[in-house]
Amino acid sequence: MNFSQIFGRLPETQASAPGRVNLLGEHTDYNDGFVLPTAIPQCTTVQIGLSDDGQHHFYSENLSDRVDILDINYTPSGFASYIFGCIEVLKAAGQTIPPLSLYVKSSVPMGSGLSSSAALEVATLRAIRQLLELPLDDVEIAQLAQQAEIHYAGVQCGIMDQMASSLADTEHILFLDTRTLERQMIPFPRGAEIVVIDSGVPRTLATSGYNQRRAECEEAAHLLAVKALRDITDVEATKVLPEPLRRRARHVVTENNRVLEVLQGVTPERFGSLMNASHASLRDDYEVSVPALDTLVEILQKTPGVFGARLTGAGFGGACVALVKSGEGKAYANHTLEQYHQTGYSGRVLVPDLELSDAA
Ligand code: ADP
Ligand code: MG
Repeated sequence: MNFSQIFGRLPETQASAPGRVNLLGEHTDYNDGFVLPTAIPQCTTVQIGLSDDGQHHFYSENLSDRVDILDINYTPSGFASYIFGCIEVLKAAGQTIPPLSLYVKSSVPMGSGLSSSAALEVATLRAIRQLLELPLDDVEIAQLAQQAEIHYAGVQCGIMDQMASSLADTEHILFLDTRTLERQMIPFPRGAEIVVIDSGVPRTLATSGYNQRRAECEEAAHLLAVKALRDITDVEATKVLPEPLRRRARHVVTENNRVLEVLQGVTPERFGSLMNASHASLRDDYEVSVPALDTLVEILQKTPGVFGARLTGAGFGGACVALVKSGEGKAYANHTLEQYHQTGYSGRVLVPDLELSDAA
């Protein structure tokens, strides 16, 4: 069912936004630190038109679900909360938003850590910006998207996902200082591309583990008398902390330093070693890996032509990202998956987008 079959008219315009994967700088964003996400080929598209019955109407092709907002004071749940949230934050920012019909379709896998939620928010805000000719820049779009996710979807997220979806592209890595929003588009290391593989292990402990790590970092920053762990640059300074805060802080400090090293310009080999070091730090100091992620990362790291690999996202399950020799992504991904399946786990290739490359 397309827009006109659902809403009985053609859309007036449409906009898209990509999902993202974070290459380096994990668990640093809520410490005011540095991140290095890139856009993935999969994206979310939102088609939009004015609605003439005074109600908002949302449809998701992926979920085959339609939500009609009959009462503007009613706050929806589920996928509609992200879209409704975007409309409400625009209103709170002083924009007049008429009743709208929105149709969502996406190739970003949902709930796999590739940020389908940010892609949905940014595509929605872009579509509304285009339809109503709103004077919003891409950073403002990212900030509004984050507000929508926090206040309407109820997810305490940092700004990385929305900034990546709004500002990154697949040809560059976005360096972002999450405190100042200072940013830089850096080219991929020459001759390298990315592979992302879902471990097949659901992120069941992700929320509780994430909240616990956040609290530990806050306590560590408090004990070190700084606003956030980002303000510590010398890892020696963490030695005064009690365990496990010392190891948690050590991860954040070393991870920030790894990201800053990339900014200086590194070879793909060096970028890969920094990713390997990041995984070890997430596993040993931050303790957010699980056996399936370690297995997958180990297979990737042992594969000739793979520069480096690590878990990506909050951990406790989810996906791994690797930097590999360009032109070979699909072959490396399939080879890795085969070996991974032999260990008894069941994973899935997320990038390269095999559907796209098979169709090509
Ligand atoms: P991630 O952002 O890692 O994919 P989240 O749990 O943050 O995972 O966001 C996933 C949620 O976002 C889905 O459960 C759904 O509510 C919403 N969502 C994302 N993309 C779509 C889509 N194409 N159609 C409907 N809902 C979507
Ligand atoms: Mg999300």
